[in-house]
Amino acid sequence: MKIRDRYAPSPTGLQHIGGIRTALFNYLFAHSQGGTFILRLEDTDRTRFNEAFVQNLYETFTWLGFRWDEGPDMGGSVGPYIQSERFALYQQYAQVLVDKGAAYYCFCSPARLDALREEQAKNHAKETGYDRHCRNCPPAESAARIAAGAAPVIRLKIPLGETTCFTDQVLGDIAWKNEAITPDPILLKSDGFPTYHLANVVDDHLMGISHVLRAQEWLPSTPLHVIMYRLFGWEHPAFCHLPMVMGQDGKKLSKRHGATSIDEFRGQGYLPEALINYVALLGASYEEGKELYTLEELCSRFSLDKLSKAPAIFDYKKLDWYNGQYIRMKTDAALAALALPYGVEAGLFGGPGTEPNAGQQADFTAAMALIKERISFLHEIPNKISYLFTDPPVPAASEFIPKKLDLSQTIALLGMGRDLVEPLAVLSDTQAEAFIKEQAEKEGVKLGDLMMPLRVALTGARVSPPLFGTIRILGLARSLERVDRALAVLRG
Ligand code: GLU
Ligand code: ZN
Repeated sequence: MKIRDRYAPSPTGLQHIGGIRTALFNYLFAHSQGGTFILRLEDTDRTRFNEAFVQNLYETFTWLGFRWDEGPDMGGSVGPYIQSERFALYQQYAQVLVDKGAAYYCFCSPARLDALREEQAKNHAKETGYDRHCRNCPPAESAARIAAGAAPVIRLKIPLGETTCFTDQVLGDIAWKNEAITPDPILLKSDGFPTYHLANVVDDHLMGISHVLRAQEWLPSTPLHVIMYRLFGWEHPAFCHLPMVMGQDGKKLSKRHGATSIDEFRGQGYLPEALINYVALLGASYEEGKELYTLEELCSRFSLDKLSKAPAIFDYKKLDWYNGQYIRMKTDAALAALALPYGVEAGLFGGPGTEPNAGQQADFTAAMALIKERISFLHEIPNKISYLFTDPPVPAASEFIPKKLDLSQTIALLGMGRDLVEPLAVLSDTQAEAFIKEQAEKEGVKLGDLMMPLRVALTGARVSPPLFGTIRILGLARSLERVDRALAVLRG
């Protein structure tokens, strides 16, 4: 069988974790099987449609770095891939069902349906929804009303007294009493627009979709779709409902838990690799003990039996860990390129919005090696390295003084440290470490006591990125200037 699956978002909101997970699993499944992954825009709900959400979709996937094989932007043999460009098809197929007696015209006015709803609510009716009022209207009568100018909707005539069964690839055998399905849902609205159910089924069929991998919240729609396939005389695709994504409190993941849109994650400095890796593990497990996967590794390992029934819990801490891991894997140059906008925005290079000059750019890139191991987010970077670009204020004398020592001893230690700056500025980390240890021994002082005042003088703080790398980036002249400023304050 040719494997074809699809991501079929409705552009009524920003791309979020759940949507990305659906897209990713479809991508992985198709590619693990040598199949085709399709993007289809389900933009039939024109009241909630917004072109900005279509843009957001494209931008998000460009940023994430995985793509579909067929879709609105790149075409394919079964397009168009935008439902609003396929309206004539849906009308045609709704008519097919009407002609077969599997669907019917409903002339009920909104006022009648409102009244019905109110009455059902008042009576706490067991059966709610449409009361199948027009189900048995004779075709001749319908035709006459349409000829007289009425604009009916078309409803599906759900066969009553039956049970609809299908096998879900994750959840197993599902049986649904037809009476428990929304009564005779609308397929085509009075203005000729299709509803989700009609457009979705017609398109999955016409686009040759073999597998539907979608969020579990669509499960209640599936019996309805299975009925439609049967009434059309089509074979239905394999269904595969993906485990829900929950917050730590066991409730469906939402804004209350934290960021959910990919825009937010992106703005907070998450890397696409980290998001993809983490999202790929939401409801699936691949290899015991292995946590880091490239997209290619995921492709080669994905299969439907790796999916779990149980809901996945979204753990923001774990995502942060992934982000740190992927930051560490970047080269200094690559990380600097990603972090630069944050540095510019934070005003690292002379004020907010100012781009770095060549020297600053080189320092910025070199600084990545100092902080890579210590951050989980790109936005942490400017704050951690701003001391390299602007002289930090000299802290109070007490900040310089190592434990159990006094001010005059500290001044002496910083004087010793000053003499070490020149050799340190040209030594590698390992050489520098050996060298400064040797000097501390020679002077009969503790290594920590020698380094502390020097660190505070150069970085403005007792806790800082690595000292030797700092000296190399600042260079001899700037380092000595800072030490001398500090000495003046201490002596002051
Ligand atoms: N347009 C639906 C959505 O927004 C598609 C659901 C499906 O995959 O069938 O998720
Ligand atoms: Zn009706």
